[in-house]
Amino acid sequence: MNRPDLLDQLARATQERAQRGLHRRLRAVEHTASGRCRLDGHEFIVFCSNDYLGLAAHPDVIAALQRAAAEHGVGSTGAHLISGHHRAHAELEETLAVWTGRERALLFSTGIMANLGVMQALLGRTDTRQPGLCLQDKLNHASLIDGARATAATLRRYPHADVDAAARQLAAHPNDAALLATDGVFSMDGDIAPLRALAALCRRESATLMVDDAHGLGVLGPQGAGSLADAGLTQDDAPILMGTLGKALGTGGAFVAGSAALIDGLVQFARSFVYTTAPPPALAAATLEAVRIARAADDRRERLRHLIERFRNGAAQLGLPLMPSTTPIQPLLLGDAERASAAATALEQAGFLVGAIRPPTVPDGQARLRITLSAAHRDDDVDRLLDALAALPRKTQADPASDSC
Ligand SMILES: *Cc1c(COP(=O)(O)O)cnc(C)c1O
Repeated sequence: MNRPDLLDQLARATQERAQRGLHRRLRAVEHTASGRCRLDGHEFIVFCSNDYLGLAAHPDVIAALQRAAAEHGVGSTGAHLISGHHRAHAELEETLAVWTGRERALLFSTGIMANLGVMQALLGRTDTRQPGLCLQDKLNHASLIDGARATAATLRRYPHADVDAAARQLAAHPNDAALLATDGVFSMDGDIAPLRALAALCRRESATLMVDDAHGLGVLGPQGAGSLADAGLTQDDAPILMGTLGKALGTGGAFVAGSAALIDGLVQFARSFVYTTAPPPALAAATLEAVRIARAADDRRERLRHLIERFRNGAAQLGLPLMPSTTPIQPLLLGDAERASAAATALEQAGFLVGAIRPPTVPDGQARLRITLSAAHRDDDVDRLLDALAALPRKTQADPASDSC
């Protein structure tokens, strides 16, 4: 017998990743206030969180969570279809549907599970349908790509934001049921998908458009209803909307919104919805409060726009490699992974936590600092970050010991 050992193989793959300077490690932080944290005994200003509106530590959100836990306990006690679907979940679903202008919404425990569930329900193998086609932007979130790969559908990825390429791929499969899935705001680049053009294409080709609005919800559009609302697109234009609750809303979990028929189908066929424990009802209560605040938070969105502009103007004056983003995700493209890691380490020494995003999360040669802004930041926080960026050595030396994320 000559059977390879799986754990040995894994250890070798890990070692190989470390040799390429791409090893990742976990670090435990304590968030001390919005936009601030303590790590290894030092205080940092956080420029890598997705808490865009500063709601994760909002006193009303905290109070809602505490109150609901005191009244209804912590765990949901079961799957949604058994004992776990609490009134707080149902209320949150209704509120999310109204907010996003959809007929209904369905909660999932995480965004990954929501994307997986949509793919399973729409593209999974059944006795009665042919495996369809799934078109995706090359830069879509990993969970959309993985979700499609786990189905029988043919997955085709079009070059980033290239609507003509997507049209050609659709035209090449005129007889297949087709789902076109895109991030609303791209998580590592911060740019917004060409949603109106994609919606027009899908309408012309009878394909179904799905938008993952993890980074648009709460931030873009009237009342923060997201990138689709911002583009003036309705449920007819984009029948499947996925949103996450752990980013601008500051809590956790995710939802899918669309027609009553879509939601009923997901309840039947989305295995990541059916076969998992419902999230704690207190989390739903906290999210309900966060949605209430987010809808009315034009002041926070205005503050965010101001900070984005302040950062971009400052960075442009310094000649930093900005990307074309108008959202709170403001990456600086550095190229090689060592350079990004070294820059993140130097910023850390100056008191700033910034994510170094490296392959395989982004393509080879496109490592970057992923700077994210929050309404909780002060002007002075941004100015000091810019000072620290200006002080970075022009050619940061590779440092094998630095391996943030
Ligand atoms: C964060 C994110 C997800 C995953 O959501 P979680 O709730 O964190 O699992 C999905 N899609 C996009 C675009 C994301 O940024």
